[in-house]
Amino acid sequence: MSVDKALAMITDCNVTWEQLRKIKRYSAGQNIPSERKICKRQEELIDGVFMATTQKLMQRSTRTKGLSLTDSAVVWMTKIEDTIGAHLEQHFMLDNLVPFNNEIWLKFGGDQGEGSTKFEVQILNIKSPNATRNVIVVLLFEAPDCLYNIEATLPNVSCEISNMNGKKWRDYTLRMFGFGDYAYLTKLYGLLGPTGRYPCLFCTLTNREIHAGKTPDVA
Ligand SMILES: [Zn+2]
Repeated sequence: MSVDKALAMITDCNVTWEQLRKIKRYSAGQNIPSERKICKRQEELIDGVFMATTQKLMQRSTRTKGLSLTDSAVVWMTKIEDTIGAHLEQHFMLDNLVPFNNEIWLKFGGDQGEGSTKFEVQILNIKSPNATRNVIVVLLFEAPDCLYNIEATLPNVSCEISNMNGKKWRDYTLRMFGFGDYAYLTKLYGLLGPTGRYPCLFCTLTNREIHAGKTPDVA
C-alpha cells in the first residue's frame, strides 16, 4: 500500500493512530506503511495548502469581560480552488457526485466553536452532503466571530471563494452560496444587523422604509 493510499484510508475511514496499530498487527495490514512515513506525508500535504500567522484580533478578557486587540492564531487555506477540485475528483471517482442541471453547488459558511471561529466550504451535490468529512475548513482563527475579526481575516480567502462562483469544473459550472443564519450572514455581508440602517439581506430598503410598509422595487 502506498503512503498516499494509507493516508487516504485513515482519513476516509476515520481511523485513529491507535486503531491503525491494531490493524497492522493483523496480517491483512502488513503492507501498510509506517506511521512515521504517513505522518511525514500528512505534514507535507498540510504545509502545501495552509498558511498560518498571527493577527491582532478582538479577544474577550476572562477577567474584565472587555474586548481588546490581542495577537491571535489565524490559519487559512491557499489554493482553495485546487483543493475543492481534488475533492470533486475524488467524489467523481467514487461515483458520489449528483450534479443538477450541469451545476455543482457549494456553500460557504461560518461556525463558532470552543474559542475559535471556522469558515468552511461544503459540496452540496454529493450523496451525503452533511457528512462531517465533507466539511472543508478554509479559514480558522482563535477568536470570537465578531464583525471586526471577520473583516480582519476573511480577505485571506474571500477573493478565491467568490472567484469560484461560475467557474467550470469538468463539464459543470460551480455555484457558490453564502450559508448561515441571519446573525452570521449580516456579518458576512458587512451589515450591522436588525437595528442597522440597512437590515435586509435581500434588498436595500432602510429600516425606516420597512417599518413604513414600503416594498422593494423589483427589476
Ligand atoms: Zn428586503
